[in-house]
Amino acid sequence: METPVCAIKMLPKELWIEAASTAAGVNPANAPALQALRAFAPDADIEPEHLALLTSKYWGSGGVRLTVGFLDNPAADLRARLLSHMNAWAAYCNVQFVETATDPQVRIARTANDGYWSYLGTDILHIAAGQPTMNLDNFTMNMPESEFHRVVRHETGHTLGFPHEHMREDIVNRINRAKAIQYFQSTQGWSEQEVVAQVLTPLPNSALIATAQADPDSIMCYGLPASIMNDNVPVNGGTDIDAQDAQFASTVYPMLNPFPNWLELDDNPATADIIASGGNLYQRHDSGRIWVYTGTPHTGWLELDDNPATVQIVADGNALYQRHNSGRIWVYTGTPHTGWLQLDGNAASVDIVAAGGHLYQRHDSGRIWVYTG
Ligand SMILES: [Zn+2]
Repeated sequence: METPVCAIKMLPKELWIEAASTAAGVNPANAPALQALRAFAPDADIEPEHLALLTSKYWGSGGVRLTVGFLDNPAADLRARLLSHMNAWAAYCNVQFVETATDPQVRIARTANDGYWSYLGTDILHIAAGQPTMNLDNFTMNMPESEFHRVVRHETGHTLGFPHEHMREDIVNRINRAKAIQYFQSTQGWSEQEVVAQVLTPLPNSALIATAQADPDSIMCYGLPASIMNDNVPVNGGTDIDAQDAQFASTVYPMLNPFPNWLELDDNPATADIIASGGNLYQRHDSGRIWVYTGTPHTGWLELDDNPATVQIVADGNALYQRHNSGRIWVYTGTPHTGWLQLDGNAASVDIVAAGGHLYQRHDSGRIWVYTG
């Protein structure tokens, strides 16, 4: 038995351009990367409808809150169970589905034999009130829990704007074009153009908000029957939100930071130590490199030294000192790399501290010394 195929429901063609405009309005990142397209085909006349098909349909990155209603009045237990699986995405990204009886944005029908489908992301804004934006065929409480995971989370992914993972190039290349057109024409009633758009046009990686590699275990990778595959191997598709789905969803819809009053200044695993004094911030790498922050996050670090022997830095006011693993002690005089003046050279020195205009060192014998200039 073949895995039932999900279709991303497409708006009627006369709405494509308007819907692309809606999508770009809701989230400017949805607009296709024209420069990349032109790089592939510099002389091509790119028709507005073609552009519309390349437009992503994600909601805004500031978070998604969509109201949900049911068109056939299912029992409360089924409504709650469906909602809970829609909100499974909320564990990984800033989205929320809330049931309402009044003008719901996501409208779920359970029309038997109409299959599993959803419109994609912001396209649901172009569906007339009272019409479904998602169909769950004949879903009931008797469906196995695994189908709630596989189907409801998948269709909800479409509502969030995630396309089919099987549209990735490495999967599309395995599909037999003629067989696919014939198959989807007979099973879905799609025109050739719709089959090409839904199944046979790889999402252009250059113009894509997407993970780096196609993920055949993605919840958004639905089944494709063996009969339309060149290698006669079906694409089984994912059964639940996997780690790559979760990671990607969190980049499209980032969780709000509960502590927003922190600004990231650097992100380098080599950083072994930070010190601050006199309004200056320094870091030391485990490679011995010393850097001072000059005011621009990430890129605004000025290297002051690059010596693998450096094992400690201390600062006092505008003075910066370093100690080598040889015990040697140096003070910085203002010129990166060359502007270090050696103050001591005793292998017994294992620690330095500086405060109040004074520099101290401790020897492994316990002896303590102050620098007198
Ligand atoms: Zn689907």
